Order: sequence, then C-alpha cells, then structure tokens
Amino acid sequence: MAEHRDQVWQRAQERCEYCQLPQPCTVLPHEVDHIRSQKHHGLTTPSNLCLACAHCNSYKGSNVAGFDPESDELTPLFHPRQHVWGEHFEWNGPVLVGITPLGRTTIDVLRINFPERVEHRRLLIEVGQLPHL
Ligand SMILES: [Zn+2]
Repeated sequence: MAEHRDQVWQRAQERCEYCQLPQPCTVLPHEVDHIRSQKHHGLTTPSNLCLACAHCNSYKGSNVAGFDPESDELTPLFHPRQHVWGEHFEWNGPVLVGITPLGRTTIDVLRINFPERVEHRRLLIEVGQLPHL
C-alpha cells in the first residue's frame, strides 16, 4: 500500500474521489481506499485504489453495493477507476445529486448528503473554498 500512496494522492489531486472534498478543506486526513475491499479479495494495486475522505471511507467500509433509494434495486457503488464521476453525479449547490441508480446508491451508502456534510460544503462555498462547485 505504501508504495502506491503518492500515486493515489496525485492522481486524485488530493480530493476525495467520491464526494470531491479537497484535503485542505478538512482536518480529518483523507485515506487510501480499496475500492473492492480486501474482504472481497480486492487487490492492493493502483487500479483498485482511490483517495477517499474520512467520512466517505468510514461509511463505505467494505461495501461494494447498496440499494437504490428510488427503485430499491441492488446496485453497485461508484468505482472511481471504472466509472466517470460526471456521468453519475452533479452538484445542486452543496447537495450532491445522483443522476443514475449508481450515483443515488453511492450517495446513500456513503451518506454524502448528511446534513452536517452539506452544511460544511455550504460554508466552504461561501468562503470560496470549493471552486469546482
Ligand atoms: Zn468523500
């Protein structure tokens, strides 16, 4: 894992690859995440690693799927190496909107729109710290 750390951080440009939170916007350190967890035989290779903020990583845990809040269908989570972020998510101010089943399910499982997280992003936008929003 240590040998891939710098590559993962640089590739992600120090942002969470799920909720896009930049590391400088939080005191909690971002973490290198196994997209397919080791529990599910995911390998420690660059194609299975991503950068995740502490919140996304802790809610994701070893999950690889969830239930779409609209259809209740079993749905895989967003895979930062295999899916294109902008095809599944879009911002509505500080609220992340899932525009596909996969996007909605990922937001739900990772609790990306929990009120404290939305409020954090709202404050960051207000002070100009989330230029991508
Ligand atoms: Zn995140």
